[in-house]
Amino acid sequence: MQIRSCDAQLLAIPLERPVVSGMSSGDRGAGLTTIFMPVVTLTTDSGLVGRGYTWALAAGGTAMRSVIQEDIGPELIGLAACDHEQILHKLYWKTQGVGRHGLVTQAIAAVDLALWDLRAQMASLPLFRLLGGRRDRAPVYGSDGGWLNMSVEEIVEAGRDYLGQGMRGVKLKVGHDDPGIDIERVSRVREALGEDVWIAVDANQKWDLPRATRAGRAFEALGCAWFEEPMLCDDVIGHAKLSRRLDIPVALGETLGSRFEIHSFLQAGAVEIVQPDLARVGGVTEFLRIASLCEVYRCPVEPHLMMEASVHLACGIPGVEGLEYMPWLTPAFVEPLRLEDGCLLAPEAPGLGLEISEKLMERFRVA
Ligand code: MG
Repeated sequence: MQIRSCDAQLLAIPLERPVVSGMSSGDRGAGLTTIFMPVVTLTTDSGLVGRGYTWALAAGGTAMRSVIQEDIGPELIGLAACDHEQILHKLYWKTQGVGRHGLVTQAIAAVDLALWDLRAQMASLPLFRLLGGRRDRAPVYGSDGGWLNMSVEEIVEAGRDYLGQGMRGVKLKVGHDDPGIDIERVSRVREALGEDVWIAVDANQKWDLPRATRAGRAFEALGCAWFEEPMLCDDVIGHAKLSRRLDIPVALGETLGSRFEIHSFLQAGAVEIVQPDLARVGGVTEFLRIASLCEVYRCPVEPHLMMEASVHLACGIPGVEGLEYMPWLTPAFVEPLRLEDGCLLAPEAPGLGLEISEKLMERFRVA
């Protein structure tokens, strides 16, 4: 089965509410209002169609589409779709000088997902069963209801809504210049939702070591489940020091681009919960390698964003614990994933099981 064409389109999906986080949405800039979604369609000479996607927030969507269309697509034509590793090897070495992480890797992720979509369709299996079929649903926590631009009252209301749907808990954004503001906000949410409710906090790289230490100790006392991205994503030494000072687990990984980058943190004892992003690490293939690595370090994996595709990893293999419920890309799909008692059900259709209709493509396409 040979690849006959590779087509890339760029969708722009409005967010339900503008969002502000620690640093990821810029240095206290305006809230983000749109998520960009480059979509890849691979057609084969047998008529089978594979589809993959990736994402971009503040920048890079147009460039990702261009990399797929101009640099990656022509390399794929005529190759056997099942020679997946050979294809990735070729793409890696063509783009390494400008890639390795960042938008090129994220563009490759969309192709990797499309190849896995084809592979699972060839096997007539949903991807999570092809990967191992550990379970058919994965627990989620509410992740789209704790932004810095929301009041404590709004966060509590969103939290109750998530808990009412049976979710395991909620994640709150922290990361004001003065951590005291965040400590107070988290205390108030904790008080309103109750002692036993699962709450994680995420600073999106905002703080330095002294402020992260101060905040981390307070979050620990408030019984928070993990302290996510306390400091700059490249700061291995700082996170290792912080991990030694705190009992609350340090979680990170969403901004790292490969098993090599994640290994630096594992080896240094700088992370206790690893959160790879399927797009940012280059797709399912690299995610699987990262999951194996984390197993060696006895470190749980909690995928970042991309829940519609990540659910296949959380249901396919051991070690991938839960998912964040962040339905930003959901409007692009014909059918939203089913949520039952706080668990996301993996799609049972062969492949990724995610349909994007022509009508939806038309609606959201910007390039
Ligand atoms: Mg995060």
